[in-house]
Amino acid sequence: MVKICCIGAGYVGGPTMAVIALKCPSIEVAVVDISVARIAAWNSDHLPIYEPGLDEVVKQCRGKNLFFSTNVEKHVSEADIIFVSVNTPTKTRGLGAGKAADLTYWESAARMIANVSETDKIVVEKSTVPVKTAEAIEKILTHNSKGIKFQILSNPEFLAEGTAIKDLFSPDRVLIGGRETPDGQRAIKALKDVYAHWVPEERIICTNLWSAELSKLAANAFLAQRISSINAMSALCEATGADVSQVSHAIGKDTRICPKFLNSSIGFGGSCFQKDILNLVYICECNGLTDVANYWKQIIKVNDYQKNRFVNCVVSSMFNTVSGKKIAILGFAFKKDTGDTRETPAIDVCKGLIGDKARLSIYDPQVTKDQVLKDLSMDKFDWDHPVHLQPLSPSSVNQVTIVWDAYEATKDAHGICILTEWDEFKTLDYQRIFDRMRKPAFVFDGRNVVNVEKLREIGFIVYSIGKPLDP
Ligand code: NAD
Repeated sequence: MVKICCIGAGYVGGPTMAVIALKCPSIEVAVVDISVARIAAWNSDHLPIYEPGLDEVVKQCRGKNLFFSTNVEKHVSEADIIFVSVNTPTKTRGLGAGKAADLTYWESAARMIANVSETDKIVVEKSTVPVKTAEAIEKILTHNSKGIKFQILSNPEFLAEGTAIKDLFSPDRVLIGGRETPDGQRAIKALKDVYAHWVPEERIICTNLWSAELSKLAANAFLAQRISSINAMSALCEATGADVSQVSHAIGKDTRICPKFLNSSIGFGGSCFQKDILNLVYICECNGLTDVANYWKQIIKVNDYQKNRFVNCVVSSMFNTVSGKKIAILGFAFKKDTGDTRETPAIDVCKGLIGDKARLSIYDPQVTKDQVLKDLSMDKFDWDHPVHLQPLSPSSVNQVTIVWDAYEATKDAHGICILTEWDEFKTLDYQRIFDRMRKPAFVFDGRNVVNVEKLREIGFIVYSIGKPLDP
């Protein structure tokens, strides 16, 4: 029986390994992590992450061929294939601070693999890493082991949170990069055989190591670029009377452009897009490609601009002050169908409004109170000027309440900001909400989810990103 071990039981490691276990009953899969709490949650009825369809997959395999454990060394030493899916955040200090990837967790995992391995292993980069990381990993592994042969593969993950199980069941492609040596090709074949249990052969792409590593950064940069492009267009729409949804529809009909990922919003979030673009910028700079680096930087600048633009619009629409006014925040996660708040644009929007002394009443169906307060209390790292900005003071955090119902959040509010595109926000009883709000009642739709005309008929003053303003 082939044995797989995955180091890192997070948003990627957990769902990916659960699907491998489900699709490959002949393979034993162990997911290990240093976090005792996370592993305990994976072994409980309350999984550590919310992802549609994940519970069912885990329930079907856990205890049969899928195991979650903190016994990292045991499972690593027994495995034939080791996936490494640890976090690779942006460095906050030292060389490359604010841009380069922090590979501390990766390096420590590699050293541990080298120490405990007594048989040859295939080590798979599942985390998103800078191009050429495999070279460093190879050195760490070979210099710290006793004659064990390691083959490094790059197998970046393209799942999107919120649709992870669907993406894993039916991926657009699986990418495997490896060395062009006979041993490298054998390792590629071994990993390909795992995916071949359910992924059609034509969707499995094999490349050299560096192409696979760079393709993941490139994919995220291209996706983020589309969002910044349509968001930049949304500002122009508002200035001219064009409607960004109509523009998206019109340009998306061009098969060279395609309609996906063309929704304007308050900006992208999540743990990956910004981090991976910064990483790309750093790699370009290290290779002397300053103009290329500046091109990619602009994607993040437009994203920041969009968040600021939204806050300015809220404050200026509400007669230039939100001081003491209750504002309902609907949605805090960085997108619908996830409870993940890493780099959510809601953090910047809420902090902007708190800075203007608004009182916020926040509702999100999947984000806990503790998580919201933690996010709002943290200082923000300014990547352009690597110094820490001031965190919000504890007294500002008192301007925030977290509630478990959209109606409670909006009661007596002066305005509503929709920051996540949860489906339930489309079907709220807006008449009931309007009746219980202060007047004039404002809606600022940062995700274009509401029916603007209908809300205007009820009596709301509505601002929706990239749409003609309320007459
Ligand atoms: P995560 O923070 O949710 O999970 C990482 C886990 O690794 C944590 O539970 C941590 O405790 C564990 N860990 C760290 N060092 C360890 C060690 N030495 N031994 C054992 N466990 C260790 O991160 P994530 O969102 O799953 O992302 C993992 C990687 O995948 C990142 O490189 C990310 O860029 C990439 N990625 C993420 C997504 C996504 O949507 N989240 C998608 C594609 C790729």
